[in-house]
Amino acid sequence: MVTITAVVLLSMVAVLLFVWIAMRLIAVLTRPADVCPGCSGTDVRQSYPRPSLPDWVLARLACVPIRCRSCRRRYYARRDDAQRLPRPSSRPIAQ
Ligand SMILES: [Zn+2]
Repeated sequence: MVTITAVVLLSMVAVLLFVWIAMRLIAVLTRPADVCPGCSGTDVRQSYPRPSLPDWVLARLACVPIRCRSCRRRYYARRDDAQRLPRPSSRPIAQ
């Protein structure tokens, strides 16, 4: 039998999870596409989309993956803000 305490705890966890996801989405939607959130570098390009849940969900919200060429971090930004960035195949990979 589920107690009231368990229901309250699960509700609190659900609310906290919702708030965390909302804050992450707001961070993605307000972040400038051309500045890496890891190293603040500006040598970034669009990244290849992956067959993953985050890529699928954020593509529905008009976001695209971005790759930093300096620290290799992958992050997301709004599609209209990222369109001026180079495409993944615009510069050959260093050997
Ligand atoms: Zn970086």
